[in-house]
Amino acid sequence: QSTENGNGLQSRGPLKVAIIGGGLVGSLAALSLARRGHEVHLYEYREDIRTAELVQGRSINLALSQRGRKALAEVGLEQEVLATAIPMRGRMLHDIKGNRTVVLYDPCTNQCLYSVGRKYLNEVLLNAGEKFPNIQRHFEHKLHYVNLTQGRMEFKRAPNKEIVEANADLVIGCDGAFSTMRQQMVKTPGVNYSQEYIEHGYLELCIPAKNGEFQMPENYLHIWPRDAFMMIALPNQDKSFTVTLSMPFKVFDTIRTTEELLNFFHKYYADAVPLIGEERLVKDFFKMPPQHLVSVKCHPYHYGAKALILGDAAHAMVPYYGQGLNAGMEDCTFLMSLFDQPNLTTAEILEQFTELRWRDAHAICDLAMYNYVEMRDLTKRISFRCRKWLDTQ
Ligand code: FAD
Repeated sequence: QSTENGNGLQSRGPLKVAIIGGGLVGSLAALSLARRGHEVHLYEYREDIRTAELVQGRSINLALSQRGRKALAEVGLEQEVLATAIPMRGRMLHDIKGNRTVVLYDPCTNQCLYSVGRKYLNEVLLNAGEKFPNIQRHFEHKLHYVNLTQGRMEFKRAPNKEIVEANADLVIGCDGAFSTMRQQMVKTPGVNYSQEYIEHGYLELCIPAKNGEFQMPENYLHIWPRDAFMMIALPNQDKSFTVTLSMPFKVFDTIRTTEELLNFFHKYYADAVPLIGEERLVKDFFKMPPQHLVSVKCHPYHYGAKALILGDAAHAMVPYYGQGLNAGMEDCTFLMSLFDQPNLTTAEILEQFTELRWRDAHAICDLAMYNYVEMRDLTKRISFRCRKWLDTQ
């Protein structure tokens, strides 16, 4: 039975929905469903990032593009997020001699990517959820078992790992690339799944602000393509840049001492050394081991009428296309467009979600893998072509 709630959104009568994972996709999904009048329970393994002193996790900032913006607009948050985001109008390529070349993304209509802080975006989404009394947040709850047919869940609650049981009409796994929900789904017949670790790892460095200013032009995604490896940098609100160094683990393994690190950087990224600062480079490089990157494909994304996975849980991809989060947010756009069809049952919504989504999601995982080669290799050729073109002007 369809009803209309205060937001003018159609709903088939409130469901009790459990969302597993309060990251970017989970907090967006919670908000979207709460706006449609459903009773939402958001379960997150970590403590509340809004009050946490130290938030560990993946990249500090992200490139937000059209898919993500559209999803944010649908929950009324696009302008709030863009107000503090930094537009990146093109790539700025740094060659090995320190020459810089700009390749605009869209010289005609000036479309661009936006650099946003992961923590900030997560906070905006969680804060927006506070306005809805029909969202209950359960931090420090780690899903460890779900019965996919009955919608029954078991969590381990910090600090004692005491078991907490819950149930829901619908359980949506937004619990990331190593999803517990997906692990349970792939144990059932008919669920296909593949994962691929790439030979590259990554670690994050920082180009700090100098005298309160950016040290490089801020409206670009900076790239240092070096064939087998590369470095990129995205601007932050505090006028620093977050730098991501990607290279094969076997290259990381060759750098064990300060001297080896500085030699390596002076050889391949000489223009970045004074920007990062030698002392900081050494400290940040050896702070944490490089992280692995995985690409995940799965089909279907649902199980029966009670379980669904979204975001990285359904389609984690390597980060080189800047679309992992954007695609995860687009999952919410698709899912909500189905929820807004009052004649569909929950089972039909889930079935149609898989059918509508899986080909595009697999394609974007492939494109991300392709761009993994493109960014570190082809951009160098583009850079070369552009310089030749500039020389002729
Ligand atoms: P996650 O962000 O992984 O969130 C999952 C949440 O679930 C976490 O909060 C976790 O604590 C929680 N959780 C996990 N297990 C459990 C459990 N058992 N019980 C309860 N909670 C649980 N994407 C872009 O679009 N643009 C970019 O520029 C970009 N850059 C990137 C750079 C790097 C280096 C990396 C690694 C990724 C990048 N991505 C980018 C991809 C992006 O980070 C992911 O696609 C996005 O974070 C997926 O969001 P998610 O909510 O699905 O998963």
